[in-house]
Amino acid sequence: MSQEAYDIVIVGAGAGGCVVASYLAEHTDASIALIEAGDTDSDPFIHIPAGFAKILAHDRHVWKYETVPQHGTKRAYRSGKVLGGGSSINAMAYVRGQRRDFAAWQDAVGDTGKWSYDDLLPVFKAQEHNDTFHDEYHGIGGGLAVQQPKGINELNQYCLKAFQEYGIPYNPDYNGESQIGVSPVQSTVGHQRRCSAVDAYLRPHLASGRVTLLTGNTVVRVLVENKRAVGVELMDNEMIMAGEVVLSAGSVHSPKILMHSGIGPTGQLRQHGIAVIVDSPEVGENLHDHAIVPVRAHVKGDLGYQAAAHGLGTVKAGLRYLVTKDGPASGNGIETVSHWNPSDFAAEPTIQCYHVPIIATGGVSPTGDRSGITFELVVLQPKSRGWVRLADNDPTSMPLINPNFMGEEEDLRAAVESVHAIREVMAQESLAPVIQQEIDPGSHIQSDAEIGEWVKRAVATMFHPVGTCRMGQDARAVVDARLRVRGVDGLRVIDASIMPNITSGNTNAPTQALARHGTGMLVEDLKRT
Ligand SMILES: Cc1cc2nc3c(=O)[nH]c(=O)nc-3n(C[C@H](O)[C@H](O)[C@H](O)COP(=O)(O)OP(=O)(O)OC[C@H]3O[C@@H](n4cnc5c(N)ncnc54)[C@H](O)[C@@H]3O)c2cc1C
Repeated sequence: MSQEAYDIVIVGAGAGGCVVASYLAEHTDASIALIEAGDTDSDPFIHIPAGFAKILAHDRHVWKYETVPQHGTKRAYRSGKVLGGGSSINAMAYVRGQRRDFAAWQDAVGDTGKWSYDDLLPVFKAQEHNDTFHDEYHGIGGGLAVQQPKGINELNQYCLKAFQEYGIPYNPDYNGESQIGVSPVQSTVGHQRRCSAVDAYLRPHLASGRVTLLTGNTVVRVLVENKRAVGVELMDNEMIMAGEVVLSAGSVHSPKILMHSGIGPTGQLRQHGIAVIVDSPEVGENLHDHAIVPVRAHVKGDLGYQAAAHGLGTVKAGLRYLVTKDGPASGNGIETVSHWNPSDFAAEPTIQCYHVPIIATGGVSPTGDRSGITFELVVLQPKSRGWVRLADNDPTSMPLINPNFMGEEEDLRAAVESVHAIREVMAQESLAPVIQQEIDPGSHIQSDAEIGEWVKRAVATMFHPVGTCRMGQDARAVVDARLRVRGVDGLRVIDASIMPNITSGNTNAPTQALARHGTGMLVEDLKRT
């Protein structure tokens, strides 16, 4: 057994962990180790924007889980397991959310911290390198490349128009003044390559040796002595000692590691024979995620990207990308999106809808060779809450995951209403002529009750788990407003799991912003000691 020692050990080199490591490298002299269970990001499919569909279709670079039964059946669940974590395998949509999401974060911490939209807007701007917008909402000096689509295919042009015919305004920038509207998708792509959190911030610090990266190493538990974190234990029993430990292992693994370390709900830890160090009742609780409700229709001719995403078309798109760096493989293939409230078009959006110009399964992978469109409907502020719990006391076991999709009647009602609404959009004059046939839910499913039952059968994760190490000022919260784990010194959680409530949109950009904001507090605290 060997023992290395660092000032700061970060567990997980994902969207959050890469930001933490880079910010610490830039603002301290501390020795930093970044421990990642997955491999390096050398796979070329990670970097080709359209490559994510292949990665997911073949389950490469992922933790492969399934949920406990949701309405009778288990659902696939995935997160990134590679340098960059989710930011290396995700669909690259760049969405910050709504002002009111962060107002709720501020409410969660009261006057013990600063997590409002006004506190986070400067952080989003500092991280961003936008290819189009440079105004009070957008920055151009950061490392995170954000681009507008380089072109909008014909099928998505029809979607843009049909939503406007339906009454939803065109909004060129859903990350600006208002989210409301139908818009081009902003994506974390620059120069026709994915911009992961590694590309955005970390690579220079790896090259200079400021950050020591240990890939292929899985942390089992945090070592705690006298209620202070002193290091971590790896799967092969090796110990790495640390002055401070930061968990950035994501919303499934950060609570799992805490529980294996003896920090969690007493009853659950005792049930698995784990000695309790801190009774923290909400570790692993408060899981929420965005659930996709996929409405699919075949379209006429070869509209959209089905041909490019299938068989010989993939080869052609790949060759074109290699030679000219353009064409369907140079973007994420998702060019338009809408954010709206079906009951009141002027109100803050309650629904997000990606207009994916293929027949997609599992969120993003193309299926079949007939052209089509998938409207991925998402209830933005779900009320349903689930959990991540230990299956047993073996650290190699996958935890039990219950996202509790559509567990609350209100979420189901919102989803049903959004299906009715998208049918109206498909009936507008710009889309109706090209829609051949609705295949899901299908024209035989009409009443609210029938649609509700279909939603329960069809619903799948959008891969946005948050909340399992909830931040708050109350005694039950897992971390405080400075992201310190309650009851243990020298231990923080800095990743999507600390969100008290999910943001109204995709979670990569908010995770990177909260990571920078939270690491700023860590740096302040280090300077004080
Ligand atoms: C398929 C998919 C598509 C998505 N699409 C989008 C999108 O288009 N836009 C968007 O904004 N968001 C998207 N997301 C969500 C976004 O990527 C996540 O919200 C974000 O990555 C969360 O960051 P994180 O730091 O909390 O966790 P992660 O990025 O998951 O990082 C956690 C890291 O910790 C490592 N780790 C875990 N356990 C251990 C351990 N025990 N020891 C060592 N290392 C460990 C993991 O391997 C991983 O690299 C998507 C996610 C997925 C999976």
